[in-house]
Amino acid sequence: MNAKADILNALSIDVEEYFHARVFQEGIGGAVAGLESRVEMSTDRVLALLAAGGAKATFFVLGQVAAAHPGLVRRIAEQHHEIACHGDGHELVSRQTPDEFRTDVRRAKAVLEDVTGKPVIGYRAPNFSIGRAQAWAYDILLSEGFRYDSSTYPILHDSYGDHTASRFPVEVWRHADQKRRGRSPGSSA
Ligand SMILES: [Zn+2]
Repeated sequence: MNAKADILNALSIDVEEYFHARVFQEGIGGAVAGLESRVEMSTDRVLALLAAGGAKATFFVLGQVAAAHPGLVRRIAEQHHEIACHGDGHELVSRQTPDEFRTDVRRAKAVLEDVTGKPVIGYRAPNFSIGRAQAWAYDILLSEGFRYDSSTYPILHDSYGDHTASRFPVEVWRHADQKRRGRSPGSSA
């Protein structure tokens, strides 16, 4: 097979409000009540661009956004893009206990699957916040029905990423059930 044929150019988009961004949250002390929602307007612009270019993408959608804007999630899915999960409340994995993380991803996955009627198998942590110290999260993602993770960023950065991680997808195996496996770009956990 031609080596070029093995390269997949994958485009992904995180679907959240501007006020879900960590720097914004810190700047306003978490007081988001009453702020204008812009996620439908901005995501519809992205959808139009993708349609014009004939491109498909994966949309990592926040559970809270899906609950508040189910019509938006349906529009994304109806245009044959992949719906994946960006967690529920945009809390960093590195600031959650395993139980809190499980509750967060379970709630978000359930909302997304309820809205689209299809299984959601992909996950990306807020701010790519699964590093080496959060490898426990892979076990939870597997047991909650996820099959790939896109949370490790292979760069040197002050608040996230693992610059030693692979730039390419790697398989994550667990001995307890070798039939189950997940794929994690940039992780060798
Ligand atoms: Zn995000």
